Amino acid sequence: MLSTKLTKSILHTTDNYIKWLEKAWISTVWDLLRQFPREYDDRTSVLDTFSLINIKEKNTILVKLLSITSQKTANNKLLTKAVLEDKNWFLAEAVWFNRKFLTTQLQPYVQKKIIVTWKVKYAYWKVSFTSPETETSLSKIGWEIVPVYSDLNYIPTKWTWSKMDLLKKYISDITENLPENILEKYSFISRKEAYYKVHFPKNKNDIEQAKYRLAYEELYEINYSAIAKKYEKFEATTWKSLQVPMNAEFVKEILAKLPFPLTNHQKIVLFQTLKDMEKSHGMQRLLEWDVGTGKTVVAQVAAIHAIMESAKIDEKIQVVIMAPTEILARQHFEWMQELFWDFGISSHLLVGSVTKKQKDAIKTDMKNGNVDVIIGTHALVQEDVLFHNLWFVVIDEQHRFWVKQREVLESWLWNRSGKIPHSLNMTATPIPRTLALTLYWDQDLSVISEYPKWRKDIYTKVARDWWPREEVERFIRNQLEQWRQAFWISPLVEESEKMDLANAISTYETLVELFAPFKVWLLHGKMKAREKDEVMKAFSENKIQVLSSTSVVEVWVNVPNSTIMCIEWAERFWLSQLHQFRGRVWRWKYQSYCYLFPTKGNSTDRLKAMERTNNGFELAEIDLEIRWPGEVYGLRQSWVPDLKVADLRDLELISQIRVDIEEMFEDKKQEMQA
Ligand code: ADP
Ligand code: MG
Repeated sequence: MLSTKLTKSILHTTDNYIKWLEKAWISTVWDLLRQFPREYDDRTSVLDTFSLINIKEKNTILVKLLSITSQKTANNKLLTKAVLEDKNWFLAEAVWFNRKFLTTQLQPYVQKKIIVTWKVKYAYWKVSFTSPETETSLSKIGWEIVPVYSDLNYIPTKWTWSKMDLLKKYISDITENLPENILEKYSFISRKEAYYKVHFPKNKNDIEQAKYRLAYEELYEINYSAIAKKYEKFEATTWKSLQVPMNAEFVKEILAKLPFPLTNHQKIVLFQTLKDMEKSHGMQRLLEWDVGTGKTVVAQVAAIHAIMESAKIDEKIQVVIMAPTEILARQHFEWMQELFWDFGISSHLLVGSVTKKQKDAIKTDMKNGNVDVIIGTHALVQEDVLFHNLWFVVIDEQHRFWVKQREVLESWLWNRSGKIPHSLNMTATPIPRTLALTLYWDQDLSVISEYPKWRKDIYTKVARDWWPREEVERFIRNQLEQWRQAFWISPLVEESEKMDLANAISTYETLVELFAPFKVWLLHGKMKAREKDEVMKAFSENKIQVLSSTSVVEVWVNVPNSTIMCIEWAERFWLSQLHQFRGRVWRWKYQSYCYLFPTKGNSTDRLKAMERTNNGFELAEIDLEIRWPGEVYGLRQSWVPDLKVADLRDLELISQIRVDIEEMFEDKKQEMQA
């Protein structure tokens, strides 16, 4: 049985190994079988000339060992060097560090043939191996493909590989988990076969077949449960939402009152949103737009439409707008007042710092239906908050609320009212579409990264090592004199002893001196929420001209006057993060500037991509090339599935799998209706 506990006798091993395995969360046969090889050493094809070497992978080569010597290096390491010769008398070098016995071991094989396995470098026109594996027994030529497992705690790959043999017999207990039609469609090998081949491949083809199938099944499982939940929710919420028919004339009337025309994309998404609200089940739409593309106004127009139109059918609905920080909530509140006013719509701001008395008054209004719109922070999700007729919830910067919190909010609303309000979520995190579909399984997605034509491109420059920094500083001072303001971001709060990094505080001190008499203030993560708010407020009122801030502080505030974003140690940030930062000063009216100051030697091509493009999605793709999505987006580990074979970046496969699954659900739906 696969659930059989691993024991000393099953694995022919000692208590220690069992303990180490348990520490790595491996306690059953199945757990160990699920440890797939990280890579494979292909020893089936042994090369005999250096010219056939493939630089990208490990190579196994039959060579003649001409000499092997050891010497101590200046920093007291033992350096072992060997000269190798191929069939055509071409020479190569191999080096090892601190391999005490190697010279003695290989000495008897000088002038004889040996096998070396490793990745190869070409340096100065010479082939060179660094720390290759060596094999002196030539009978092992053409031997087999050797799986390489990740080291588990103290357990080396060789041990894991040797024990897999003992688990062979359990593989026959593995049951199929993909439906027949999928197996057929892709001519997949069975699950048993895949497990067999992934651990005991005979050739490259075996590995490919196994990995393809295992990757598919891994992504299939995640996406299946996501899509199943989506369909379930769809059914459960049908007729539980309020249908608001779209009134095109009225929409035009609202748009006429805006201070600017909407961009085409804003119009399209507004239309999608209003269409969603006509349907018999709750809207679940996620606007995934780059910073500064103008999400807020779309939400507001949708809210005004829903409130005024619902009044015609029945009674005015209530709308909640949730923001991740108090400053942002306040900003939404203030910005929205005027337009609400035009339509006689009342609104309240409910945030942590509102006095108890005010809060009670607001809550009473909410309960009695005396207020149409409530704008606030998560202070809104509380036991004693009641609504009269809540049918529309807008969540701004939804990734900050995490999936869990959003679920809490939904079930809280559900339990309270038995209603499913329409929900419009907004985020500026440019997660690639298919990845977003997997993570935000239950939402319809509108992705936009196009800016209005009339917006001026932000000017971005990565400082080079040879750059006179004073020039930039002079330029910034000049901007300050023209009433502009600047953000100055640095990555750490306090100087860490180990890394010789200056920090926000010392940056701040430098800036104070540099820009006097302009006011420079400090904002960092260890400040209390209220203190932060005060600083931000002063900044938005231009009482402060330069805000020296740590990255901990998420400055999602619109300060129209601020046109400069400077970032120290820029190489420490993801491009997506840098892009978010610069979005803060990338407003509509004035030309804005972003200066990235990496430490010496770090003006890399990666950073320079910031100069090249203003497209957040493109930058996110570059981040993804380097790191795994969870890290890039600061997502919680538990939240992004931990994949063993598949790659969440394999967008093509994910799209294909989603189509496969959706088809199955659609078929089922049709059958039920027939
Ligand atoms: P984000 O998508 O980052 O939340 P906002 O909604 O805060 O962006 O909008 C950024 C700024 O652009 C705001 O000052 C807003 O008033 C302005 N804005 C939004 N839409 C337009 C538009 N179509 N034309 C001109 N300015 C706009
Ligand atoms: Mg916003």
